[in-house]
Amino acid sequence: MNFVLKNLSDSEINRIETFYQDFKVANNNTYIRFFAKTEYITVTVYSTNKVMFQGEDAKEEYDMWVNMLAYHEESTKTKTPNFKDYFYPSIGSDEVGTGDFFGPIIVCAYHLKQADVKTYKALNIKDSKRLSDDYILSLGEAIKEIGTYSLLTLHNDKYNQLIERGFNMNKIKAYLHNKAILNLLNKINGNPEIIMDQFTPEKNYFRYLNKEQHVCRNITFLTKAESRYASVALASILARYAFLKHFNVLSKQIGLTLPKGASLKVDEIAAKLIEERGEKCLYDIAKLNFKTFNKAKALLK
Ligand code: MG
Repeated sequence: MNFVLKNLSDSEINRIETFYQDFKVANNNTYIRFFAKTEYITVTVYSTNKVMFQGEDAKEEYDMWVNMLAYHEESTKTKTPNFKDYFYPSIGSDEVGTGDFFGPIIVCAYHLKQADVKTYKALNIKDSKRLSDDYILSLGEAIKEIGTYSLLTLHNDKYNQLIERGFNMNKIKAYLHNKAILNLLNKINGNPEIIMDQFTPEKNYFRYLNKEQHVCRNITFLTKAESRYASVALASILARYAFLKHFNVLSKQIGLTLPKGASLKVDEIAAKLIEERGEKCLYDIAKLNFKTFNKAKALLK
Protein backbone atom coordinates (compact mmCIF):
# COMPACT_ATOMS: atom_id res chain seq x y z
CA MET A 1 0.00 0.00 0.00
CA ASN A 2 1.06 3.61 -0.66
CA PHE A 3 1.32 6.24 2.07
CA VAL A 4 1.48 9.81 0.91
CA LEU A 5 2.43 13.13 2.49
CA LYS A 6 1.15 16.09 0.50
CA ASN A 7 1.80 19.83 0.25
CA LEU A 8 5.04 19.70 2.21
CA SER A 9 7.19 22.80 2.48
CA ASP A 10 10.62 22.90 0.83
CA SER A 11 12.35 22.61 4.20
CA GLU A 12 10.28 19.52 5.09
CA ILE A 13 11.19 18.01 1.75
CA ASN A 14 14.86 18.77 2.43
CA ARG A 15 14.69 17.00 5.79
CA ILE A 16 13.25 13.90 4.18
CA GLU A 17 15.80 13.89 1.35
CA THR A 18 18.70 14.35 3.79
CA PHE A 19 17.39 11.52 5.93
CA TYR A 20 17.38 9.06 3.03
CA GLN A 21 20.47 10.46 1.28
CA ASP A 22 22.47 7.25 1.73
CA PHE A 23 19.80 5.22 -0.05
CA LYS A 24 19.32 7.59 -2.96
CA VAL A 25 18.89 5.98 -6.38
CA ALA A 26 19.31 8.00 -9.57
CA ASN A 27 16.17 8.48 -11.68
CA ASN A 28 15.33 10.20 -14.97
CA ASN A 29 11.69 11.01 -14.34
CA THR A 30 11.19 14.78 -14.52
CA TYR A 31 8.32 14.61 -12.03
CA ILE A 32 10.41 12.82 -9.42
CA ARG A 33 13.03 14.99 -7.73
CA PHE A 34 14.34 12.33 -5.36
CA PHE A 35 14.07 8.57 -5.10
CA ALA A 36 15.46 6.28 -2.36
CA LYS A 37 15.28 2.54 -1.80
CA THR A 38 16.06 0.65 1.41
CA GLU A 39 15.55 -3.02 2.15
CA TYR A 40 11.94 -2.44 3.30
CA ILE A 41 10.71 0.72 1.66
CA THR A 42 10.99 3.05 -1.31
CA VAL A 43 10.63 6.81 -0.91
CA THR A 44 9.57 8.92 -3.88
CA VAL A 45 9.65 12.71 -3.66
CA TYR A 46 7.67 14.37 -6.44
CA SER A 47 8.32 17.83 -7.84
CA THR A 48 4.84 18.76 -6.52
CA ASN A 49 6.20 18.41 -2.94
CA LYS A 50 4.43 15.13 -2.41
CA VAL A 51 6.23 12.18 -0.82
CA MET A 52 5.15 8.58 -1.28
CA PHE A 53 6.26 5.64 0.87
CA GLN A 54 5.86 2.13 -0.49
CA GLY A 55 6.85 -1.34 0.70
CA GLU A 56 6.66 -3.52 3.77
CA ASP A 57 7.46 -0.77 6.31
CA ALA A 58 5.74 2.07 4.46
CA LYS A 59 3.14 2.64 7.18
CA GLU A 60 5.74 2.80 9.99
CA GLU A 61 7.87 5.18 7.97
CA TYR A 62 4.89 7.38 7.11
CA ASP A 63 3.80 7.46 10.79
CA MET A 64 7.31 8.44 11.84
CA TRP A 65 7.26 11.45 9.49
CA VAL A 66 3.73 12.43 10.51
CA ASN A 67 5.16 12.71 14.04
CA MET A 68 8.40 14.40 13.10
CA LEU A 69 6.77 16.98 10.84
CA ALA A 70 3.67 17.43 13.00
CA TYR A 71 1.86 16.68 9.76
CA HIS A 72 -1.92 17.09 9.79
CA GLU A 73 -3.68 15.20 7.07
CA GLU A 74 -6.87 17.21 7.59
CA SER A 75 -5.31 20.57 6.91
CA THR A 76 -3.85 19.39 3.63
CA LYS A 77 -7.12 18.07 2.31
CA THR A 78 -8.07 21.57 1.18
CA LYS A 79 -5.51 22.12 -1.48
CA THR A 80 -3.83 25.45 -1.91
CA PRO A 81 -5.73 27.48 -4.50
CA ASN A 82 -3.98 27.77 -7.81
CA PHE A 83 -4.73 30.58 -10.24
CA LYS A 84 -5.10 28.01 -13.00
CA ASP A 85 -8.04 26.37 -11.21
CA TYR A 86 -11.49 26.99 -12.64
CA PHE A 87 -12.81 27.34 -9.08
CA TYR A 88 -10.05 29.74 -8.05
CA PRO A 89 -11.38 31.75 -5.06
CA SER A 90 -11.86 35.27 -6.38
CA ILE A 91 -14.28 38.02 -7.29
CA GLY A 92 -15.63 37.67 -10.80
CA SER A 93 -17.28 40.55 -12.64
CA ASP A 94 -19.40 40.47 -15.77
CA GLU A 95 -22.29 42.25 -17.44
CA VAL A 96 -25.34 41.46 -19.58
CA GLY A 97 -27.85 43.34 -21.67
CA THR A 98 -25.33 45.31 -23.71
CA GLY A 99 -26.38 43.56 -26.91
CA ASP A 100 -30.11 43.73 -26.22
CA PHE A 101 -32.17 46.60 -27.62
CA PHE A 102 -34.86 46.03 -25.00
CA GLY A 103 -34.09 45.81 -21.32
CA PRO A 104 -31.51 47.18 -18.88
CA ILE A 105 -27.78 46.64 -18.50
CA ILE A 106 -26.93 44.57 -15.47
CA VAL A 107 -23.49 44.16 -13.94
CA CYS A 108 -22.66 41.65 -11.24
CA ALA A 109 -19.56 41.20 -9.10
CA TYR A 110 -19.61 37.87 -7.30
CA HIS A 111 -17.32 36.54 -4.58
CA LEU A 112 -16.45 32.86 -4.79
CA LYS A 113 -14.96 31.63 -1.51
CA GLN A 114 -12.75 28.58 -1.09
CA ALA A 115 -15.15 27.21 1.54
CA ASP A 116 -17.98 27.09 -1.03
CA VAL A 117 -16.09 25.41 -3.87
CA LYS A 118 -17.66 22.01 -3.12
CA THR A 119 -21.16 23.53 -3.23
CA TYR A 120 -20.48 25.14 -6.62
CA LYS A 121 -19.04 21.92 -7.98
CA ALA A 122 -22.33 20.19 -7.21
CA LEU A 123 -24.17 22.78 -9.32
CA ASN A 124 -23.63 22.82 -13.03
CA ILE A 125 -21.70 26.08 -13.23
CA LYS A 126 -20.59 27.02 -16.70
CA ASP A 127 -20.55 29.81 -19.23
CA SER A 128 -24.03 31.35 -19.01
CA LYS A 129 -24.24 31.50 -22.80
CA ARG A 130 -24.34 27.73 -22.76
CA LEU A 131 -27.22 27.53 -20.28
CA SER A 132 -30.92 27.77 -21.04
CA ASP A 133 -32.97 30.66 -19.65
CA ASP A 134 -34.98 28.29 -17.48
CA TYR A 135 -31.84 26.77 -16.01
CA ILE A 136 -30.38 30.21 -15.32
CA LEU A 137 -33.54 31.20 -13.47
CA SER A 138 -33.27 28.21 -11.11
CA LEU A 139 -29.47 28.38 -10.81
CA GLY A 140 -29.69 32.10 -10.02
CA GLU A 141 -31.95 31.36 -7.05
CA ALA A 142 -29.39 28.89 -5.73
CA ILE A 143 -26.23 30.94 -6.16
CA LYS A 144 -27.83 34.04 -4.61
CA GLU A 145 -27.90 32.06 -1.36
CA ILE A 146 -24.28 30.93 -1.46
CA GLY A 147 -21.89 33.79 -2.13
CA THR A 148 -21.80 37.55 -1.50
CA TYR A 149 -22.38 39.73 -4.54
CA SER A 150 -23.25 43.17 -5.81
CA LEU A 151 -25.77 43.48 -8.60
CA LEU A 152 -26.33 46.79 -10.39
CA THR A 153 -29.12 47.55 -12.84
CA LEU A 154 -28.91 50.46 -15.23
CA HIS A 155 -32.49 51.08 -16.33
CA ASN A 156 -33.22 52.23 -19.84
CA ASP A 157 -34.24 55.80 -19.00
CA LYS A 158 -30.96 56.33 -17.13
CA TYR A 159 -29.01 54.65 -19.94
CA ASN A 160 -30.60 56.92 -22.54
CA GLN A 161 -29.79 59.96 -20.42
CA LEU A 162 -26.13 58.91 -20.14
CA ILE A 163 -25.90 58.41 -23.89
CA GLU A 164 -27.39 61.89 -24.39
CA ARG A 165 -24.67 63.21 -22.07
CA GLY A 166 -21.99 61.70 -24.30
CA PHE A 167 -21.20 58.41 -22.53
CA ASN A 168 -20.43 55.45 -24.76
CA MET A 169 -21.23 51.83 -23.96
CA ASN A 170 -17.73 50.98 -22.72
CA LYS A 171 -17.62 53.96 -20.40
CA ILE A 172 -20.98 52.92 -18.98
CA LYS A 173 -19.71 49.37 -18.47
CA ALA A 174 -16.50 50.57 -16.80
CA TYR A 175 -18.48 52.79 -14.45
CA LEU A 176 -20.86 49.97 -13.47
CA HIS A 177 -18.12 47.34 -13.02
CA ASN A 178 -16.10 49.67 -10.82
CA LYS A 179 -19.13 50.46 -8.70
CA ALA A 180 -20.20 46.84 -8.34
CA ILE A 181 -16.68 45.79 -7.30
CA LEU A 182 -16.35 48.59 -4.74
CA ASN A 183 -19.79 47.72 -3.31
CA LEU A 184 -18.82 44.08 -3.00
CA LEU A 185 -15.43 44.83 -1.40
CA ASN A 186 -17.34 46.78 1.25
CA LYS A 187 -19.45 43.74 2.06
CA ILE A 188 -16.68 41.17 2.48
CA ASN A 189 -13.54 40.60 4.50
CA GLY A 190 -10.15 40.45 2.87
CA ASN A 191 -8.96 41.37 -0.58
CA PRO A 192 -9.55 38.51 -2.96
CA GLU A 193 -8.21 38.60 -6.47
CA ILE A 194 -10.60 40.30 -8.91
CA ILE A 195 -11.12 38.87 -12.38
CA MET A 196 -13.05 40.82 -15.00
CA ASP A 197 -14.36 39.56 -18.29
CA GLN A 198 -12.46 42.02 -20.46
CA PHE A 199 -14.48 44.25 -22.79
CA THR A 200 -11.89 46.95 -23.49
CA PRO A 201 -8.09 47.20 -23.13
CA GLU A 202 -7.00 47.75 -19.53
CA LYS A 203 -5.61 51.21 -20.33
CA ASN A 204 -9.00 52.32 -21.72
CA TYR A 205 -10.89 50.86 -18.79
CA PHE A 206 -9.01 53.11 -16.38
CA ARG A 207 -9.19 56.07 -18.75
CA TYR A 208 -13.01 55.79 -18.71
CA LEU A 209 -12.82 56.03 -14.93
CA ASN A 210 -10.37 58.94 -14.68
CA LYS A 211 -12.99 61.27 -13.24
CA GLU A 212 -14.09 58.80 -10.57
CA GLN A 213 -13.00 59.39 -7.01
CA HIS A 214 -12.72 55.74 -6.04
CA VAL A 215 -11.35 53.28 -8.55
CA CYS A 216 -10.46 49.69 -7.79
CA ARG A 217 -7.20 49.08 -9.68
CA ASN A 218 -6.30 45.61 -8.54
CA ILE A 219 -8.00 43.77 -11.37
CA THR A 220 -6.98 40.96 -13.69
CA PHE A 221 -8.57 41.52 -17.11
CA LEU A 222 -9.11 38.40 -19.16
CA THR A 223 -10.98 37.76 -22.37
CA LYS A 224 -13.42 34.83 -22.24
CA ALA A 225 -13.04 34.92 -18.45
CA GLU A 226 -16.54 33.49 -18.15
CA SER A 227 -15.37 30.13 -19.42
CA ARG A 228 -12.06 30.26 -17.54
CA TYR A 229 -13.17 31.13 -14.00
CA ALA A 230 -16.22 30.02 -12.04
CA SER A 231 -16.30 33.35 -10.19
CA VAL A 232 -16.86 35.15 -13.49
CA ALA A 233 -19.34 32.50 -14.66
CA LEU A 234 -21.28 32.99 -11.39
CA ALA A 235 -21.30 36.77 -11.86
CA SER A 236 -22.53 36.29 -15.38
CA ILE A 237 -25.23 33.78 -14.39
CA LEU A 238 -26.54 36.05 -11.66
CA ALA A 239 -26.52 39.08 -13.96
CA ARG A 240 -28.38 37.05 -16.59
CA TYR A 241 -30.82 35.82 -13.95
CA ALA A 242 -31.60 39.42 -12.92
CA PHE A 243 -31.87 40.44 -16.57
CA LEU A 244 -34.39 37.68 -17.33
CA LYS A 245 -36.48 38.61 -14.30
CA HIS A 246 -36.43 42.25 -15.29
CA PHE A 247 -37.23 41.42 -18.88
CA ASN A 248 -40.31 39.50 -17.82
CA VAL A 249 -41.50 42.49 -15.81
CA LEU A 250 -40.99 44.79 -18.80
CA SER A 251 -42.86 42.39 -21.08
CA LYS A 252 -45.77 42.32 -18.64
CA GLN A 253 -45.80 46.11 -18.39
CA ILE A 254 -45.84 46.47 -22.16
CA GLY A 255 -48.32 43.67 -22.57
CA LEU A 256 -46.35 41.64 -25.10
CA THR A 257 -43.34 39.32 -25.01
CA LEU A 258 -40.35 41.47 -25.88
CA PRO A 259 -37.66 39.74 -27.94
CA LYS A 260 -34.05 39.66 -26.72
CA GLY A 261 -30.94 40.70 -28.60
CA ALA A 262 -31.10 42.74 -31.80
CA SER A 263 -32.61 41.22 -34.92
CA LEU A 264 -35.28 41.81 -37.55
CA LYS A 265 -37.84 40.53 -35.08
CA VAL A 266 -36.70 43.18 -32.59
CA ASP A 267 -36.92 45.87 -35.33
CA GLU A 268 -40.48 44.78 -36.10
CA ILE A 269 -41.66 44.78 -32.49
CA ALA A 270 -40.04 48.19 -31.95
CA ALA A 271 -41.81 49.49 -35.09
CA LYS A 272 -45.11 48.12 -33.85
CA LEU A 273 -44.65 49.86 -30.49
CA ILE A 274 -43.71 53.16 -32.13
CA GLU A 275 -46.72 52.95 -34.43
CA GLU A 276 -49.18 52.13 -31.66
CA ARG A 277 -47.79 54.18 -28.76
CA GLY A 278 -45.31 56.67 -30.13
CA GLU A 279 -41.51 56.83 -29.97
CA LYS A 280 -41.56 58.04 -26.38
CA CYS A 281 -42.73 54.71 -25.04
CA LEU A 282 -39.37 53.18 -25.96
CA TYR A 283 -37.38 55.57 -23.79
CA ASP A 284 -38.01 53.54 -20.64
CA ILE A 285 -37.69 50.07 -22.14
CA ALA A 286 -35.04 50.22 -24.88
CA LYS A 287 -31.57 51.52 -25.75
CA LEU A 288 -32.29 54.26 -28.22
CA ASN A 289 -28.75 54.64 -29.58
CA PHE A 290 -28.98 51.15 -31.12
CA LYS A 291 -29.39 50.94 -34.91
CA THR A 292 -32.60 49.07 -34.16
CA PHE A 293 -34.31 52.37 -33.35
CA ASN A 294 -33.67 53.84 -36.81
CA LYS A 295 -34.39 50.55 -38.54
CA ALA A 296 -37.74 50.39 -36.75
CA LYS A 297 -38.61 53.92 -37.80
CA ALA A 298 -37.57 53.10 -41.37
CA LEU A 299 -39.94 50.12 -41.36
CA LEU A 300 -42.82 52.49 -40.74
CA LYS A 301 -42.08 54.67 -43.76
MG1 MG B 1 -18.73 39.69 -20.57
